[in-house]
Amino acid sequence: MKRKDNTGIVYICGAGPGDPKLLTVRAQELIKQAEVILYDRLIGKEIIELFPELTEKVYVGRNIGDPTTHQNYTNELMIKYAKMGKTVLRLKGGDPFIFGRGGEEAEILTENKIPFEIIPGITSGIGAAIYSGIPLTHRRYGSSVAFVTGHEDPEKKSPEVKWEKLFDAVDSVVIYMGTEKLEIIIEKIKKGLKSHNKPVAIVQNGTLKNQKIIRGNLDNIVLLAHQAKVTPPAIVIIGDIVNLNDKINWYNNG
Ligand code: SAH
Repeated sequence: MKRKDNTGIVYICGAGPGDPKLLTVRAQELIKQAEVILYDRLIGKEIIELFPELTEKVYVGRNIGDPTTHQNYTNELMIKYAKMGKTVLRLKGGDPFIFGRGGEEAEILTENKIPFEIIPGITSGIGAAIYSGIPLTHRRYGSSVAFVTGHEDPEKKSPEVKWEKLFDAVDSVVIYMGTEKLEIIIEKIKKGLKSHNKPVAIVQNGTLKNQKIIRGNLDNIVLLAHQAKVTPPAIVIIGDIVNLNDKINWYNNG
């Protein structure tokens, strides 16, 4: 919906995977122009430092058990500020439409007749892969890639990820929010495969200065992740493309 005179507007905008240099030109403009910035847990310090001093800033990242950080609260704030006539920047990690609930936020704004625009961002799956020298497609090692969530809404009945069948359909898989249930996920994937030597990389803090890559295969990655004390945010990449990290690892991976 386009903006009419004197009404507020919400910009649902991706902030990219972390490195502030990966903000789009549009995101940078909006950071300067917005009257209110509603930002996520995934928005790091270096990006927060770019927020103008006088702009109203509201942290809306979710903290478990804290009702003020639930999605409904974010929705209410977006609507409240827009109805006050403000220019609202809803800044989200990565891309707003990749596991970011940007779709739900846009639906709510439509239902409430609030004007909005949506600005893509570099999703962390792509950012982390690039900064790890892992081409998500490659003429010899991967013709298809699937982006999958490792953390489905427990309330919903379907769609459910068919982990056992993923590799029947695609060469490579990028898992978001996958480290918490890594063991269960890897076990399910292994059930669908004869050989378990498929390469796996876990990229923690992708594109940031403290990016860390853990490499293994389906048989040993759970142990390696445990030993490395992997913490979110981290992306799990599975497929032969992961081996290209040997050759293309161009970024300091600490
Ligand atoms: N909309 C976001 C994803 C939100 S879901 C995007 O497009 O990137 C949150 C998950 O994103 C995290 O659990 C993690 O799997 C991934 N993630 C976000 N930032 C990351 C980063 N810098 N490095 C690795 N994974 C990241």
